[in-house]
Amino acid sequence: MKTTAYGAQTAESALKPLEIERRDLRDNDVEMEVLYCGVCHSDLHQVRDDWGGSVYPVVPGHEIIGRVTATGPKAKKYKPGDLVAVGCMVDSCQHCDQCEEGDEQYCRERPTLTYNSPDRIDGRNTHGGYSKHLVAREDFVLRMPEGLDASRAAPILCAGITTYSPLRHWGVKKGSRVGVIGLGGLGHMAVKLAAGMGAEVTLITRSASKAKDAAELGAQHSLISTDPVAMEAAKNSFDLIIDTVPVEHDLKPYVPLLDINGALVMVGQIGPMGEMDSVPMVMGRRQIAGSVIGGIEETQELLDLCAEKNILPDCEIIRMDEINEAFARMERGDVHYRFVIDMSTLPGPRA
Ligand SMILES: [Zn+2]
Ligand SMILES: [Zn+2]
Repeated sequence: MKTTAYGAQTAESALKPLEIERRDLRDNDVEMEVLYCGVCHSDLHQVRDDWGGSVYPVVPGHEIIGRVTATGPKAKKYKPGDLVAVGCMVDSCQHCDQCEEGDEQYCRERPTLTYNSPDRIDGRNTHGGYSKHLVAREDFVLRMPEGLDASRAAPILCAGITTYSPLRHWGVKKGSRVGVIGLGGLGHMAVKLAAGMGAEVTLITRSASKAKDAAELGAQHSLISTDPVAMEAAKNSFDLIIDTVPVEHDLKPYVPLLDINGALVMVGQIGPMGEMDSVPMVMGRRQIAGSVIGGIEETQELLDLCAEKNILPDCEIIRMDEINEAFARMERGDVHYRFVIDMSTLPGPRA
């Protein structure tokens, strides 16, 4: 089928309306109308080819809420009318050890990403959720739980799972002492989720002005990283720190904040880490680690948890034709905390 979308034709061009082709339904496919799509920093990076390898046109979007419109002949999980969600992956090998353990994001043969990734069967470049319709394998389509607000749930699919997966992996529970560095799309979800899991949450930030925002999101404390007295007093006081800062930065001030056996997990910056100092790691079995999104089952668990505990991202709803302005504002950090596109503002394909 042909459908409408918004995409970039080159690394230099703005996003514009275009027509794309969605594949015919395979046996286990689900076709959906996209209702809402979140706007992630990686959308901007891939449109601009910041990470290399972008194949144009790039149609971004991997925080997708949709309504099922059709299913393949052997698809069993969904029926037309069901509310569903799609995150950052649409396929993986399904037979390696990582896939078998539900960690498809670490598939040995690499998962197929929702956009700008070659499809495993026909090799065509995938197109994401800035589009009227999407077709995906049912195993990678998630069920929207009852009671979860569809207009606000989209950012759970990337910002949410990216922070939830390390919280879960490192065993955060009631009373765990969790620090969150940075308060953007990822950071605000890390605060909400850690608080929802019963942790004692501290926002670690350079700007005192963010302390009030963090308290409203559920953080009990704020630590101003430019205050040397406060930083000294906070040494050895965290079990886990989620570092959401999306650019290269100095980790040396943060690692000593961990208690013995604590871990600092990087989920924002993908690239150089600057100079390191092994002393706090060696002298306290502290870890510096990284983590990327989360598995399919884990993402379903997160959607269910968000519905149960009424945890929702703070979203600013925009029209599809406001996307270029939204990218510019996102670059300036001028969003609290995630843009979500109301996809009903994108006209559908001509009949
Ligand atoms: Zn993302
Ligand atoms: Zn695999």
